[in-house]
Amino acid sequence: MVTFRELLPTLFKHDFTREVIDRVVNKKTIGNYLLGSDQGGEFVVSYVGRSDTDLNVELIQRLSPRYRKFRFTYARSVRTAFETECRDYHRYGKAHQLDNQKHPDRPDGTSYQCPFCDYLNR
Ligand SMILES: [Zn+2]
Repeated sequence: MVTFRELLPTLFKHDFTREVIDRVVNKKTIGNYLLGSDQGGEFVVSYVGRSDTDLNVELIQRLSPRYRKFRFTYARSVRTAFETECRDYHRYGKAHQLDNQKHPDRPDGTSYQCPFCDYLNR
């Protein structure tokens, strides 16, 4: 169960540093994230991702000077995290505009489909 106090940080963009990640992102949580930069007050998204096991660890592994800001949300299930990542991937311009080189993969051991395209059926 995620409390309001834990949800609050998900409303904001944060500096993408290890110290901030450890302060605001719970360990061993399923969730989604957006990496990007602040351009004139606007959060510009360059990478979308998820973790099915530990969002905190995933974000620390992604640390790079290329990204200055991040946002995140917790997910209720692996399936929700997958579908949210698909939504973000399509919303923010897919591989054309994102650093993501390909469509999100489905979680290991599942046959979930992208709700927005048939890429995973091919
Ligand atoms: Zn898709």
